[in-house]
Amino acid sequence: MASTAFRLRRIGAIITISGATLAATATAASAQSNGGDGTALWAARQRVADPAAVVPRRSVQEAALEGTSRVNPLDVLVIGGGATGCGVALDAATRGLRVGLVERDDFSSGTSSRSTKLIHGGVRYLEKAVFNLDYGQLKLVFHALKERKQVIQNAPHLCHALPCMNPCFSWFEVVYYWSGLKLYDLVAGRQMLHLSRYYSVEQSAQLFPTLATKGKGRSLKGTVVYYDGQMNDSRLNVGLACTAALVGAAVLNHAEVVELIKDEVDERVVGARVRDTISGKVFDTYAKVVVNAAGPFCDAVRKMANKDAEPMICPSSGVHIVLPDYYSPEGMGLIVPKTKDGRVVFMLPWLGRTIAGTTDSSTTITMLPEPHEDEIQFILDAICDYLNVQVRRSDVLSAWSGIRPLAIDPNAKNTESISRDHVVSEDFPGLITITGGKWTTYRSMAEDAVDAAIKSGKLKPENGCVTDQLRIVGAYGWEPASFTVLAQNYIRMKQTKGKVIPGVMDTAVSKHLSHAYGSASEHVAAIAQNENLGKRIVHGYPYLEAEVAYCARNEYCESAIDFIARRSRLAFLDTDAASRALPRIIQILATEHKWDKSRQKLELQKANEFLETFKSSKNAQFRDGKHNRK
Ligand SMILES: Cc1cc2nc3c(=O)[nH]c(=O)nc-3n(C[C@H](O)[C@H](O)[C@H](O)COP(=O)(O)OP(=O)(O)OC[C@H]3O[C@@H](n4cnc5c(N)ncnc54)[C@H](O)[C@@H]3O)c2cc1C
Repeated sequence: MASTAFRLRRIGAIITISGATLAATATAASAQSNGGDGTALWAARQRVADPAAVVPRRSVQEAALEGTSRVNPLDVLVIGGGATGCGVALDAATRGLRVGLVERDDFSSGTSSRSTKLIHGGVRYLEKAVFNLDYGQLKLVFHALKERKQVIQNAPHLCHALPCMNPCFSWFEVVYYWSGLKLYDLVAGRQMLHLSRYYSVEQSAQLFPTLATKGKGRSLKGTVVYYDGQMNDSRLNVGLACTAALVGAAVLNHAEVVELIKDEVDERVVGARVRDTISGKVFDTYAKVVVNAAGPFCDAVRKMANKDAEPMICPSSGVHIVLPDYYSPEGMGLIVPKTKDGRVVFMLPWLGRTIAGTTDSSTTITMLPEPHEDEIQFILDAICDYLNVQVRRSDVLSAWSGIRPLAIDPNAKNTESISRDHVVSEDFPGLITITGGKWTTYRSMAEDAVDAAIKSGKLKPENGCVTDQLRIVGAYGWEPASFTVLAQNYIRMKQTKGKVIPGVMDTAVSKHLSHAYGSASEHVAAIAQNENLGKRIVHGYPYLEAEVAYCARNEYCESAIDFIARRSRLAFLDTDAASRALPRIIQILATEHKWDKSRQKLELQKANEFLETFKSSKNAQFRDGKHNRK
């Protein structure tokens, strides 16, 4: 059954590649003009689409990094495994360069798993562009809209278009937002997801039942609905890391750069000293160019090259809270671009729950930023103004904080200006820093960083950038209806009251697997079926035991936290559920990684400590007796 599924998927993948090749014929000219010969792209696509392809083991990746030397260096070593770093590794590897990447914690453990999960063109920048007649802002919007479409195309199983409702409380607002969002459609041109449109009060109430139509001295005049993209950020990030690994990059999570190595003569950065944070082993790895993609920590890396380096990061923190699904309809978000006191407020459906946010406040840089109770209250108060139901503090299932790496270009004339765009800078020979920007633009940020690395290291790539034509692992052979076939093909014999009966896969599970793993969901289903790992790991969520084993084998899932936070999203969705799932997750990971009892105990302790950072001190979900309920 499983091998038939693999064969079907292989045929599907080949058809998809052929289709994509036809579609790409038009863009082939662009690959050529980038210096691409098409062969590298074809080879990369085959490798990524091959259902039998498996990423090299972590030990193999570490050996590849350790095996480098001053005379046999990598072309590019990337520091940081967030969206930017993994994007750089994938871009460089698909240009035929020899690439390594080290990530201190886990892929996406930093800002890249803590975003609002929107793939957006920056509708607010458009407003600034119009009112300030600022062409720079307009260019940002054009750029982001192009990348928005590209991200969705490259990872269709993890990204989708999301309608967002903008409530209007005066006819002026109706005209203002309608014309502004029509302009957003117009600027998007061929990159548009769907046309925006006006809905009357009655239609709006049907589409978003919890939206307040009256109250607070005002009445709704209608809503304007427009489209942006939405993603599962950390799974997309892990997908980028695994795709880079499949095309030859030596990517290693839980490996921290503790020092940069410089050439004694010309002081050029030529490598890094790395500490494997799992084994404690320290080793050196060498590269012609080092790319610093350490997000909010990129100044700390720059200071390893020059302790007097001027900071280029202006950190700003954002908090989100997660609420049950009954606050927002499944397929519609609510965004208030400007509340009475100038804040942005939103409620978005995400993975069967509702995300609300966000705050934007200056912060210090820490590895595990925590939401504060006043920030949680701030969001609750802000959304309550727009709803006809009371949102209770006890409904908050999880809350998290992330740090935006807003960048100041060290080479810019006006150093006061903080850029929402990205900055690529080689302020120390051999060390290229790429930061700023946003998730949506990670691909083009990576392209710019690799171009700079090629120039700095006089590297000889085999072809130009091809990431605008390469999908990520799991995307080839995936169709929106794949979940149906997955459910149809699944037969797991399960024991009920002493009898062995065929078990079926319910739709919630097949949809979840199909979207989270794309065409690789067949592998997960095969593990569930063949290895008796078909049970849900926790009540109320569609995560299967088989996913833990699959992620350990195929996605460098090295700890319980890696699973609850980045492979599944349980920590973000529901801290109590994540806590309840931990014993079983650790049991399965212990089998996969051969952990002894003391390691299992340590994993449980660390994971519970980690979950504390997804609660504020007064989190009403706490059931540990240590915290006050409101
Ligand atoms: C609240 C919030 C909401 C956002 N919402 C959106 C959104 O909806 N859409 C959007 O497009 N963008 C959004 N963004 C922006 C986006 O999330 C970031 O721009 C992006 O994730 C940054 O990615 P990065 O790879 O540069 O940084 P990170 O994801 O932080 O990655 C840097 C990595 O470097 C590693 N590292 C650091 N030091 C070392 C070292 N010494 N050795 C090895 N590794 C190291 C870290 O562990 C980390 O994993 C949001 C940001 C925030 C804070």
